[in-house]
Amino acid sequence: MSRAVVAIVGSPNVGKSTLFNRIVGERISIVEDTPGVTRDRIYANGTWLTRSFRLIDTGGIEVAGQDFGEQIKMQAEIAIEEADVIVFVANGREGMNADDQYVARMLQRSKKPVILAINKIDDQAFMNNIYEFYALGVGDPIAISSSHGIGIGDLLDKIIELLPEEVDDHVEGEIRFSLIGRPNVGKSSLTNAILGEERVIVSDIAGTTRDAVDTLFEKDGQKYRVVDTAGMRKKGKIYENIEKYSILRALSAIEKSDVILVLIDGDTGVIEQDRHVAGYAHEAGKGVVLVVNKWDLVTKDEKTMQKMEKKLREEFKYLDYAPIIFLSAKTHQRVQNIFSLIQMVYENNRKRVQTSVFNDVLIDAQAMNPTTSFNGGRLKIYYGNQVSICPPTFILFVNDPEYLHFSYKRYLENRIRDSFGFEGTPIHIIARKRD
Ligand code: GDP
Ligand code: GDP
Repeated sequence: MSRAVVAIVGSPNVGKSTLFNRIVGERISIVEDTPGVTRDRIYANGTWLTRSFRLIDTGGIEVAGQDFGEQIKMQAEIAIEEADVIVFVANGREGMNADDQYVARMLQRSKKPVILAINKIDDQAFMNNIYEFYALGVGDPIAISSSHGIGIGDLLDKIIELLPEEVDDHVEGEIRFSLIGRPNVGKSSLTNAILGEERVIVSDIAGTTRDAVDTLFEKDGQKYRVVDTAGMRKKGKIYENIEKYSILRALSAIEKSDVILVLIDGDTGVIEQDRHVAGYAHEAGKGVVLVVNKWDLVTKDEKTMQKMEKKLREEFKYLDYAPIIFLSAKTHQRVQNIFSLIQMVYENNRKRVQTSVFNDVLIDAQAMNPTTSFNGGRLKIYYGNQVSICPPTFILFVNDPEYLHFSYKRYLENRIRDSFGFEGTPIHIIARKRD
């Protein structure tokens, strides 16, 4: 299931990021940040009432050297391309300006659902300021104050009302995977290498809502769907090189996939952007394979692969469960080996273990390495079970979750992995107080 996308647009200083933070801070549960991955917070997942969606602050997508006008145009284009619902923010203190009118015309043409939010209406005295915005022609303006938290609930209600119906597009027996990574790492080349040799069942089907182009193919009786990440590339090179935009595309693809191939350039090595992308793959709870591409360019001896692997394990500590494959999209070296990895990781991501066997493992783990005192008490685990898959999630019923030390949790995770083999998938362990 891929979540609907809500984008915030508007001129600088109207309060977009204040609104984003307000919505995120109060109403949205942000996914846990991965240690060692720093980033600007311009995307968040969340829920309001019964619906969940992704929120984007397009104001955070900037290109050095662009003037305000170009920036706003680009941000609005990205919002139109990506979002199901657009929140158009204007400044109720300063009144309508030329940028507002420009953006309004773009949004009108796009035919996307738009909510016009007039911000900085901190009290009733400014209420009359909102009326001039009717002239923008993008619907009734609603008054909000992002910094005071006024009107935010109504705004969220309106967002939910306009979100498209959720569709479960998962097809039984089909493995959906995507290739993510920074520009020029070889995503298109590897996609072509993968598809080149296989029977493509249907290609270039335009996706329903988001204009994505997925490709379905079959290999050894298994159906696969490659989720497209190209997005606005077709509209010009410029967007592709904006890091935040390419991460945004990657996030959409991750969301729609069962397995993520995180591409690294074997020739140039790991850079910060790779860590961002990989961090998102990890947080999504999907199966992950680390793919070192351009291996043909690397001058090798018998130790090179080992050394590179060691380095990658250091760079991506949080992905220690992910298998690594070294290949070349150009020469096709080892490209064939990717299918068995995708399949394995897919199966592990949806593996269920028996409760009785799981509890045996818990008992053995504690016998081998008893818990010690932490946070004023000693952890006692009564029993546990697996509550979900994708990723496999386990609940441990304990005397007090506060007593669970991070390192003991880590130890349990390792014991579980040793016993059940969850290679390629994150697993979640949640301690809960037994009533
Ligand atoms: P952005 O550039 O559109 O993301 O705008 P910011 O969120 O950075 O806000 C610009 C300025 O407007 C900041 O100084 C905010 O504190 C202020 N601001 C944002 N929302 C409100 C509001 O509801 N009322 C008032 N009075 N100021 C606000
Ligand atoms: P994308 O932006 O991630 O889709 O990257 P592309 O697939 O467009 O590749 C970027 C450049 O790297 C192109 O010039 C490719 O020919 C080159 N490239 C991709 N994979 C390999 C590889 O395995 N070996 C070599 N030598 N070049 C590659």
